[in-house]
Amino acid sequence: MANKVFFTPGPAQLYPTFEQHLQSAVREQIGSISHRSRQFRSIYGHTDEQLRALLGIPASHAILFTGSATEVWERALQNGSEKESFHLVNGSFSKRFYEFATELGRTAHKQEVPFGAGFDGSGVQIPASAELVCLTHNETSGGVSMQVADMHSLRKKHPEALFVVDMVSSAPYPDLDYSLIDSAFFSVQKGFGLPAGLGVWIVNEKFLRKAEELKAKGRYTGTHHSLPTLWKNAKSFETPATPNVLGIYLLGQVAADMNRTGISAIRRQTDERAERIYRAVSESDQLEVFVKNPAHRSATVIVAGTRGSAPALMERWKAQNTVVGSGYGSHKEKQIRIANFPANTDEQIEGLLTAIGQLQGSD
Ligand SMILES: *Cc1c(COP(=O)(O)O)cnc(C)c1O
Repeated sequence: MANKVFFTPGPAQLYPTFEQHLQSAVREQIGSISHRSRQFRSIYGHTDEQLRALLGIPASHAILFTGSATEVWERALQNGSEKESFHLVNGSFSKRFYEFATELGRTAHKQEVPFGAGFDGSGVQIPASAELVCLTHNETSGGVSMQVADMHSLRKKHPEALFVVDMVSSAPYPDLDYSLIDSAFFSVQKGFGLPAGLGVWIVNEKFLRKAEELKAKGRYTGTHHSLPTLWKNAKSFETPATPNVLGIYLLGQVAADMNRTGISAIRRQTDERAERIYRAVSESDQLEVFVKNPAHRSATVIVAGTRGSAPALMERWKAQNTVVGSGYGSHKEKQIRIANFPANTDEQIEGLLTAIGQLQGSD
């Protein structure tokens, strides 16, 4: 049976070089090395170096590893806010981030727009008392992105607060200016095309100072994964607990591959492919583009409404080895989500476009 091709928004299609890197990892016996060894420090150092080059991360920011991006929601709130946070909410993931703040006892402010709608920099009102501003670059449930320029201009209007950006389902695509963004994070099973089980937390010294202040006041910032502890370990490319060494190794290898392609080429390719997918969806009489405002349409997760049953369409495509994501939550019956991540080859994208073009009335 032919291999399936995944256009799912995570876990997603694996990066084309994944298998080769996995074999090297087995050959180098990475699963058995100590995380206090020189070999591990050099793996962490390599991944750190490649991610800095890829994403333009300056020395003011550390690159830390957690269990997942979901964990970073909690750690960012614990270490970056004592009392108040602010959230832009437009779907399930940004909503969950907001709910975490409430569960952690913060006074969480939110500005919310309906599912499928987005935010511009203007019109966002952030209370001056908010210590931490939580933005979701790409809301995976509804396929809505916030423009990077809008996040930057919002930040400039609020220089005091810490800004944290969830870029889980868009990294490495967004070109963030880390002189403005205090923290950003992602997990590896989306745009990096790797198996799940690793969160990556990029965070600056200003954030660290806030965490140290909270810790000094006796506030809970986490045990092993409190920011000061993660930071201290990262200084010597170590981790507080035994980490996902294989995941960290594979991420460094894939980031190096991406650097060989070049981040601007990857971003350009993402834009070009997104444009073609949106065009194919809008030209199909069986599908329609869900996000109405073109400025808010995600380049990496394309949501399409289906005229007929979405699960039936997904089943037919699956039989042809094309796997797309289901609509989120209550949208399962009438929406599909198509991931546009760098791991897919040109040939696979052509196959997807053909499948969309061939949809018939019975679909
Ligand atoms: C997938 C996702 C998460 C959660 O990532 P995990 O790796 O499952 O913890 C958080 N935010 C967004 C926007 C996501 O798409």
